[in-house]
Amino acid sequence: MSSPTQAPGSLPRRHWLLAAAALTGGPLVRHVAKADASLDSPPDPNRDKQDQAGGVGFQTVTLAGTVIPLSQALHQRGLACDPDGVEDQLVLRQDDPDATLTPILKDSATRAFWIDPDRFRDQAIRLTGRLYPGLPYLQVTLVRIRDAEDGVFRIPEYHCEVCAISSRFPQDCPCCQGTMEFRFKPE
Ligand SMILES: [Zn+2]
Repeated sequence: MSSPTQAPGSLPRRHWLLAAAALTGGPLVRHVAKADASLDSPPDPNRDKQDQAGGVGFQTVTLAGTVIPLSQALHQRGLACDPDGVEDQLVLRQDDPDATLTPILKDSATRAFWIDPDRFRDQAIRLTGRLYPGLPYLQVTLVRIRDAEDGVFRIPEYHCEVCAISSRFPQDCPCCQGTMEFRFKPE
């Protein structure tokens, strides 16, 4: 692949792609950053908007707490609302004096919170992720759950022994279609 000289105008385009890759789950970011030479796609009228929405200025944080449904968190505070307005939304209830609630963006990094609630909700958890200016959601990049056996926070994953493939959410193995077993990622 040839590598044409990058014009100054190509920088925002790269930022947009970095943001898009981050939204799809993270590990792609490094590869996309190197793929600049192949990015000469037709102009996207939404590109500037997406730059502002997620390409710049995020803050990386690690928050400790418990993931629970927003409806449960509101109920605990005695706040009444129509259930259909908050159904399916999960929040991190932080271990701070205010029990701050931060809504979780559902994507491949957090899908397990919805699919496998017994393992991921009501557990001591640490979420590392991105907070964007003007956006209340946490875009999670790393999940660590307290291992009940020794109290250490570890990375959960689903693993196929046969194919040596791991996934962040429950699914059939993309290779052999077998069952992927939950485990903490070996350190
Ligand atoms: Zn497999």
